[in-house]
Amino acid sequence: MAGKIIINSERCKGCGLCVISCPKGCIVISKSSNENGYFPAQSKQGDCTGCGVCGIVCPEAIIEVYRDSNIVEVKTGSKNKSNLVKEKA
Ligand code: SF4
Ligand code: SF4
Repeated sequence: MAGKIIINSERCKGCGLCVISCPKGCIVISKSSNENGYFPAQSKQGDCTGCGVCGIVCPEAIIEVYRDSNIVEVKTGSKNKSNLVKEKA
């Protein structure tokens, strides 16, 4: 199943949790820092399945996960104390 993610790089703290959690190795840490001085995660060409693991583990809740063009997970994580999961038809 095809998927893709969008990372809000300006809010990323570069903790790397998403990198080590992705079962497909689709996320890397950028060599360039963001405006806050962190080296943010970025998606790379890979075999993203849209599994949603990265969105769940991100403590900043800044990864949107898409699966087959549908939003399956947004704003997950501890920052907003919610595990909101959205699914659109
Ligand atoms: S949705 Fe799953 S496969 Fe895609 S980048 Fe996130 S953890 Fe990796
Ligand atoms: S888990 Fe979130 S904050 Fe940490 S590197 Fe990934 S996107 Fe950035």
